[in-house]
Amino acid sequence: MKSSNSTSAFGKMLCSVFGHRYRTSKKITPHITEYRCKVCNCETTTTVSGKLDVLTPELKEINQTLADFYRRRHSLQTVA
Ligand SMILES: [Zn+2]
Repeated sequence: MKSSNSTSAFGKMLCSVFGHRYRTSKKITPHITEYRCKVCNCETTTTVSGKLDVLTPELKEINQTLADFYRRRHSLQTVA
């Protein structure tokens, strides 16, 4: 069985014309948030420098580390 990914390809085309429709997918810290485009499912993240960047596996790993670090430092409050 091969799962078709045509929605994503079509979404990418739409996004290249209309721009991405980002929704917050994960809150890393109050300053860093991961976003996912609800049309093409691409992911971006705010980086430590405050700009939006494509969520690469490397950045994902960094964010995971940051999230763990942040949670540990603020262990009294849960970051939802
Ligand atoms: Zn998109």
